[in-house]
Amino acid sequence: MKYDVVVVGAGPAGAMASKYAAKNGARTLLIEEHASIGSPVQCTGLISTPALNECEIGEGSFVLNKMKGAYVYAPDGTELAVNGKEVMAYVIDRKIFDRALVEKALDCGVDILMKTRFTSVVKNRVSVISNGERKEIQAGMVIGADGLQSAVCRSAGLSKCDKFLGGMQFEAPYAPNDPEYVEIFTGNDVAPGFFAWAVPFNGMARIGLAKNPGDKPASYYLEKLLLHPVVASRYQGSRTEHVVGGIPLGCPDKTVKDNVMLVGDAAGQVKPTSGGGIYMGAICAKIAGEVAAKAVRGEATVDEYEKRWRSAVGRELSVGMMIHKSLGKLNDENLNEFIAYLNQPEIRDVITEYGDMDHPSVLFRKLLGGSQKKQLIRLFGVAFRTLF
Ligand SMILES: Cc1cc2nc3c(=O)[nH]c(=O)nc-3n(C[C@H](O)[C@H](O)[C@H](O)COP(=O)(O)OP(=O)(O)OC[C@H]3O[C@@H](n4cnc5c(N)ncnc54)[C@H](O)[C@@H]3O)c2cc1C
Repeated sequence: MKYDVVVVGAGPAGAMASKYAAKNGARTLLIEEHASIGSPVQCTGLISTPALNECEIGEGSFVLNKMKGAYVYAPDGTELAVNGKEVMAYVIDRKIFDRALVEKALDCGVDILMKTRFTSVVKNRVSVISNGERKEIQAGMVIGADGLQSAVCRSAGLSKCDKFLGGMQFEAPYAPNDPEYVEIFTGNDVAPGFFAWAVPFNGMARIGLAKNPGDKPASYYLEKLLLHPVVASRYQGSRTEHVVGGIPLGCPDKTVKDNVMLVGDAAGQVKPTSGGGIYMGAICAKIAGEVAAKAVRGEATVDEYEKRWRSAVGRELSVGMMIHKSLGKLNDENLNEFIAYLNQPEIRDVITEYGDMDHPSVLFRKLLGGSQKKQLIRLFGVAFRTLF
């Protein structure tokens, strides 16, 4: 078997990368280790409107709910309502969504091999186990879109991301006050270093959390979350669709080597403030696919991919990482103070105007330029200001 471009992993990043390689003229093969696309699901399925646009599939049957805002709960129980002006995000069914993305890639001429696990790459030889049989595929370029445990990353000798958050979630019947609002729970007793959530859809919710590594397991905090007064009053028992997964944060210094490029979770292209990886992954995957097709024609090298994706989203990811680290250092008292600060009417107006779940740096820049900046600088330190 011989292909210009082999893309490993048929998640959102792999589907988009293969589509763009094929659209740009490369004979492209997508390989996926599982027997079906989109399983097992390791996602809450909350994506912003721009993220859906970036994926180029419009609103399909995978949309389960449309969200207009969020309620953020401080450790002391104070509620902050973040109101969007219009639909801010979609709750999606990841299985149907991932399949729709792969179908679009196949429409562009991509070949696919299911039940085919990548094992190694040495120069142009990609080794796989396909339906139990060892095989070798000749590949001009290899795109590793094989998620946070990337075997392509390991085989190419590239470094891993800075850190991995532990995530856990399930679905259950849930009666929210407002089914168009996501609920976010903060606090070191709820989700140390990150946050917990309840994302409602069709009388249910995805209830889960992500947390810093170390300390107690995510399952411990998930049980505690169910005792939170807000969750306890809405959660109606009987859990299904359990998810356990990691979220990679902090991109490695290099995501390319020889004829290999990493994309999506494999490259740590995940928003450090929300843990969302679909949006940034899609942006970078398109670049990877296009550059791979050019590279097989001798019109580009993998370095073009590294340069272009970092110029598209690198700054947002590194500022996001600094915000993530700064928020992670706040104790519960500081978090209460931060949420009280955000709850002031004039600050809430700024959030409504400039809040953007994909680009939190825009909001922070505005807040640090506003009249109430002293409080923010006191909480996060003077150095924080120099980021924006
Ligand atoms: C609890 C939790 C909640 C999340 N919620 C959200 C959210 O609400 N919104 C959001 O945007 N993101 C969310 N994420 C992150 C999101 O799921 C990922 O960022 C996204 O799936 C990454 O896409 P990807 O294509 O890079 O990798 P993946 O979706 O992980 O796809 C990788 C694919 O590669 C395949 N593969 C792996 N190894 C091999 C191999 N050796 N050979 C062949 N195939 C292989 C896998 O089977 C898989 O199909 C969440 C993550 C977790 C853990």
